Amino acid sequence: MPISDAVISGFSAIVGPTGILTQAEDLVPYSFDGTAGLRQRPGAVVFPRSTADVARCVELAVKSSLPIVTRGSGTGLSGGSVPAAGSLVLCLAQMDKILEVDPGNLTLRAQAGVVTQAIDEAAARHGLFYPPDPGSMRISTIGGNVAENSGGLRGLKYGVTRDYVMALEVVLADGRIARLGSQCVKDVAGYSMKDLFIGSEGTLGIVTEVLLKLVPRPLARRTMLALYDRIEDAAETVSAIIAARIIPCTLEFLDRMTAGCVEDFAHVGLPTDCAAVLLMETDGHPAAVADEAERMAAIAREHQARDVRSARDDAEALALAAARRNAFSALARRKPTTILEDVTVPRSALAEMVAFIAATAERFAVQVGTFGHMGDGNLHPTFLTDERDKHEMHRVHQALDAIVTKTLELGGTITGEHGVGLAKKVWLRQQMGDASYELMREIKRALDPGSLLNPGKIFDHM
Ligand SMILES: Cc1cc2nc3c(=O)[nH]c(=O)nc-3n(C[C@H](O)[C@H](O)[C@H](O)COP(=O)(O)OP(=O)(O)OC[C@H]3O[C@@H](n4cnc5c(N)ncnc54)[C@H](O)[C@@H]3O)c2cc1C
Repeated sequence: MPISDAVISGFSAIVGPTGILTQAEDLVPYSFDGTAGLRQRPGAVVFPRSTADVARCVELAVKSSLPIVTRGSGTGLSGGSVPAAGSLVLCLAQMDKILEVDPGNLTLRAQAGVVTQAIDEAAARHGLFYPPDPGSMRISTIGGNVAENSGGLRGLKYGVTRDYVMALEVVLADGRIARLGSQCVKDVAGYSMKDLFIGSEGTLGIVTEVLLKLVPRPLARRTMLALYDRIEDAAETVSAIIAARIIPCTLEFLDRMTAGCVEDFAHVGLPTDCAAVLLMETDGHPAAVADEAERMAAIAREHQARDVRSARDDAEALALAAARRNAFSALARRKPTTILEDVTVPRSALAEMVAFIAATAERFAVQVGTFGHMGDGNLHPTFLTDERDKHEMHRVHQALDAIVTKTLELGGTITGEHGVGLAKKVWLRQQMGDASYELMREIKRALDPGSLLNPGKIFDHM
């Protein structure tokens, strides 16, 4: 049902006439996110500029029984910000102010629409570091990162977004503004409510402001590439490095197809004739970095690396990391439709999982390029296909199902960082079991009794 003129006027009064979109052609860019094959036109898009604007929009939407889909930059890969039919999209991209960097307390306070990379750049100006670096960091917002609990290339050593969130300001489903967490390093007062909202994918509340923990910027860094003729050797190198009690900041994997596409796209000198490439990075005190780099190179060679190369300088190291961040975009150039998986297994099961993915692609005759945060056990098998080819799409879905089922058999998870959204909800109960799945639904019902916040995401029906 279209949103009535009276309600549209109400939103205009809150955000101003230039802060709202209602024309069909203006709504198209807000009808999808980064997930293939999912789109739905919203009823309107509003651009609040303050927490008070968000709270007033929520109050009006709830009064009008209008579903609310919060959106950052729309780079999500599980359909999280794909609108419900006729819904209100609350796009926070214009809430983009860094409010404070506090070097004394090692914190940064920002509005939810700030782009992730801008957070680290602001920290760097004070010799500080915001480590979570999703591949999308030049576009994604910190609010989206919190809502998805995003990871990144440095997750192995530094953890994910959750590890850096000290406090959140959240607009609840009835328009109340809640402050969760605090600026104290230690705080055990009551339930850890901020943790409930981190990773809740816009289904429990709208994050409007974040207080983030920063750490000192590492003094040195060494980036290396190890090249393999067998994918399994790369996977075993990862397990062996961890078993040797080395925690590098990055252990990223690219298979032959991904390395080829990235090289075509970025021209950074990635080899295209080997079965697997490991991008390894260690950072910290210069002496520790030198020692770890030497040991990692030795372990890679012990596991049949054909060659281990070091980046010559910072510029080359940055180019290699940036090229890896472009893996998804590089693969996406090959075919009209790109479906990116996000399965994660215990690291000890990595070799078995990568072999299974390759065998599954062959079994169902589909094209798959695999890359991922191998140090975290997080793999992104990426299907290159064409959604207009119904027969191939059927085989892609069969292959996807086989990969997710195998992941669960190996004690893994259906999503390591992209969230459940629309794309993964069919498997959620199977992973969680009945009791914890129902517990989540009870929490959702308690916090959003009208089921107006991002309805249909994570769960089917409430
Ligand atoms: C090329 C590419 C590389 C990527 N690499 C990574 C990676 O390495 N690691 C990783 O984890 N992800 C990665 N992603 C996925 C995606 O970038 C992340 O999930 C990111 O956090 C989404 O941020 P966004 O601002 O685009 O959010 P959106 O896509 O707009 O929204 C994502 C979800 O968060 C909710 N949401 C957004 N803002 C808020 C808010 N303020 N309050 C409440 N809910 C909100 C939305 O409703 C939706 O459910 C990648 C995506 C692309 C396209």
